[in-house]
Amino acid sequence: MSEPGPGSSGPAASVDSPTGAVGGEVGRGAGGVGTDQRLRVPTAGAEEGPHFDAHHPPAPELIADCVHCGFCLPTCPTYVLWGEEMDSPRGRIHLMDQANHGEPLSPSMVQHFDACLGCLACVTACPSGVQYDKLINATRPQVERNHERSASDRALRKAIFSLFPYPRRLRAMRGPLRVHQRSGLSALLRKSGVLQRVSPHLAAMESLAPDISTAVRVPERVPARGLRRGTVGMLLGCVQREFFPGVNAATARVLAMEGFDVVAPQDQGCCGALSAHTGREPEAQKFARRLIDTFERTGVERVVVNSAGCGSAMKEYAELLADDPAYASRAAAFADRVRDVSEFLAEVGPAAPRHPLEVSIAYHDACHLSHGQGVRSQPRELLRGIPGLEVREVRDGTLCCGSAGVWNLLNPEPARELGNRKAANVLATQADLLVTANPGCLMQIASAIGRAGESMALAHTVEVLDASIRGLPPGALGVTPRRSPQP
Ligand code: SF4
Ligand code: SF4
Repeated sequence: MSEPGPGSSGPAASVDSPTGAVGGEVGRGAGGVGTDQRLRVPTAGAEEGPHFDAHHPPAPELIADCVHCGFCLPTCPTYVLWGEEMDSPRGRIHLMDQANHGEPLSPSMVQHFDACLGCLACVTACPSGVQYDKLINATRPQVERNHERSASDRALRKAIFSLFPYPRRLRAMRGPLRVHQRSGLSALLRKSGVLQRVSPHLAAMESLAPDISTAVRVPERVPARGLRRGTVGMLLGCVQREFFPGVNAATARVLAMEGFDVVAPQDQGCCGALSAHTGREPEAQKFARRLIDTFERTGVERVVVNSAGCGSAMKEYAELLADDPAYASRAAAFADRVRDVSEFLAEVGPAAPRHPLEVSIAYHDACHLSHGQGVRSQPRELLRGIPGLEVREVRDGTLCCGSAGVWNLLNPEPARELGNRKAANVLATQADLLVTANPGCLMQIASAIGRAGESMALAHTVEVLDASIRGLPPGALGVTPRRSPQP
């Protein structure tokens, strides 16, 4: 535990032992006020203020599933950082229950909700099957609709959401960013710490930007090689497309070498993941509708995704558009067609021969792949299928690296701390290469490894597969001569 959490002055609920129950009001759901009566009914003596509205508040029956056992606590990054009950899954569920009972949406309550990374480690850890993902997904839009954010917070969020979901705007940033990085100004700013003092948010943004590489565009159609096994659609993403074009190129190549025609509509937009995971529901719905339209036109049976956060959000389109009569059933059908690239490749099985790749890798589970989509074994199986490749596990692997969509931009200090922990555990594997499946994780961990004064090659799972299938040497992945073996 290092510092008090952003919500340490939160509502006065008791903080018991890590596995003890929260204050006395938890658990009243089963025998308490009926669902309909709960909304907008202030408890006796409750202060006036904004409240949850009646549009899909967190479902009381899902809240009641929590038996307050505390098994989720050690897996929750904010609880690990601050040891605050209200910054644990159990504490946040308690706050949701309070808000459903008419407690005002106070700034401190909002802080505890905002501080949640949405990493969903608690969903994996919970023995009672509490669907915290659905609970936090219902809570965030309530906050966005009913809580008045400060002017600076609004400005920061506006800047983030005017840029990241728009590939063309990101593309326009590539040139200036490359000049900034090559001129030495970036290194100077990081070393001097000036930007950190002026704006930790801007400093986080600057330090996370990956080295701008040559732009490689995936064409609209990439034909299958060898025996043709089918046609798949491919999501290009926003950050992935503009800042990690090599990952998209490798994805298209691997799918084609495995026998699939790849259709990558050039007019596809953002999937809405960042918006959905931040409670910006109407914006997320707008992006989702557009993406469904785009891929429906292609007629593909599968939409393959190489970014964990995007895939996770796309698999939730049925819930996101459940109230839209024109899209509800289409959204459910679309969500069924979505596959993470490792999930898809494991499903269809290998066709292209793998060449040896003498390299040790530390595999980092991206939260939205492992906890969000339950995809853990498939990337490991694919990687272990490469002759000569050794997969090493990262200590505390279930703990988030602190990236979490735009969480690291909104919460730069705790994100740095989580990034530092993850980098230390990754470096401790002494592997040649860090492999993961999310652009946010790659940026977050690369930045933390750099802060530690170390360097390590990083790659997406499909880039490793691509190198193996094409018979490339480890150097093609940026790997320098082997480190000593893990003790
Ligand atoms: S969310 Fe699950 S693991 Fe956490 S306290 Fe509730 S029942 Fe226990
Ligand atoms: S989603 Fe992650 S940060 Fe949020 S409560 Fe669950 S474990 Fe904690």
